[in-house]
Amino acid sequence: MSGGLLGELLDIYTRDDALYARARRWRFDAVVQHGPTDAFGNLVISIVLAAIFAGDADRSALVAWLVAINALSLLRLVIYFAHARASPAARARMQTLFSLSLVAHASMWATAFFLFAPADSITNRSAVLIWLAGCAAWVVSAYTLLLEAVLGFLAVQLVPLAVALMLSGDRFWQLVAIAIGIFLPTMAMVAVRNNALLMRGAITAFEKEQLAEALEREKSAVETLNANLEADLERREQIEAELREAMARAERLTNTLERLSSLDGLTGIANRRRFDQTLAREWSRAQRSQQPLALILCDLDYFKQYNDHYGHQAGDACLRQLAQLLERSLRRGGDLAARYGGEEFAILLPNTDVDQATAVAENIREALQQLGLPHESSLVAQVLTASFGVAALVPGNDNAPELLIEHADKALYAAKAAGRDRIQRAGAARGGPLQPDNLLH
Ligand code: GH3
Ligand code: MG
Ligand code: MG
Repeated sequence: MSGGLLGELLDIYTRDDALYARARRWRFDAVVQHGPTDAFGNLVISIVLAAIFAGDADRSALVAWLVAINALSLLRLVIYFAHARASPAARARMQTLFSLSLVAHASMWATAFFLFAPADSITNRSAVLIWLAGCAAWVVSAYTLLLEAVLGFLAVQLVPLAVALMLSGDRFWQLVAIAIGIFLPTMAMVAVRNNALLMRGAITAFEKEQLAEALEREKSAVETLNANLEADLERREQIEAELREAMARAERLTNTLERLSSLDGLTGIANRRRFDQTLAREWSRAQRSQQPLALILCDLDYFKQYNDHYGHQAGDACLRQLAQLLERSLRRGGDLAARYGGEEFAILLPNTDVDQATAVAENIREALQQLGLPHESSLVAQVLTASFGVAALVPGNDNAPELLIEHADKALYAAKAAGRDRIQRAGAARGGPLQPDNLLH
């Protein structure tokens, strides 16, 4: 036996490794399968041999031998049936018992040789020897995995035999002893080599199996990760869609809010806030383009009396009607009619000079007249009327939008002072002093 092979065997049977331990457990599970063949073969051969021995042997000894040898193979048959359901610890004990029964079996064959095959019975001796050789070959091939049992078997069966034959003094039997002496180590060597090969193969197979299992686990882990990733992506997309929807809703709400906050609650037209913003914007634009920006301030005449006379609700309705009328009378896209406060309205007209703005105011005044909302307590007419202050400016670099309001307001004041239901225009001076103009009515 080479050092390498011995080293390998030592490694196989002592290494503290789960795979190796599994292979060591597996070898018994594999060999135990020979139980039925073993028992059947032994039964047949032992009966055949007993028949051959019957003429020479003591009957009771032969029966005892027959019973003992079959009891041993029956024990292995029982182990074969029991081992599948046994615990690992019980299996280890069964393995020892199985190996011992094989070694005991070898002693039975050796006994048979000495008891039933005396030196003068060539037939008996030949029959036993042939069977012994066959039996050794069977044990080596069938139980190679259970190496300790095989080696024990060969030693117990053949060593006493070879020694006895060598000491017999008979040349023929001495030659047989030499043959056994060669056969025994050869068979032992075959068993050792095959055992190492089989065990190595089993360890490799288990290793592969373990790798395949690890790979499978890895694969399913990756698949799970992938599925999670897909679910995450889906969830993310869903959240993104919800977010987009929420943002759109928020934008719509903002727009609505913006619109509401820029509208007058009573009349539904632009409120003072929107007017101020638009004025600032249009003022800058007019400043850049050096185009005139016109403003009409419109104030209902004797509206306090209207409320007093017709009630506040009716007054509200009037304000709504006037707002509609103002909106209707605007022609250009940039024009803006706004409720300036109370019963005062403002009309902003970009790119419009004072004459054009006066014409717009005149249209409104006439339309209001035509609307003919009765106002019995008015001191200027039978219907609701309004006074208008008109101003237009090309904004200079150093003046503010308030200047335009101031001019329009002063013109309105003048219109009121002059008797109401009329239009007063301020001069179209470039940010210059207010130039009261002729009154229109
Ligand atoms: P003048 O001809 O000088 O403009 O007289 P006036 O009565 O119209 O002006 P004054 O400033 O004395 O009164 C304005 C009135 O407008 C008083 C107030 O009751 C009324 N008014 C202001 N806002 C509203 C409103 O939202 N609804 C109603 N119904 N009346 C309003
Ligand atoms: Mg007023
Ligand atoms: Mg008024």
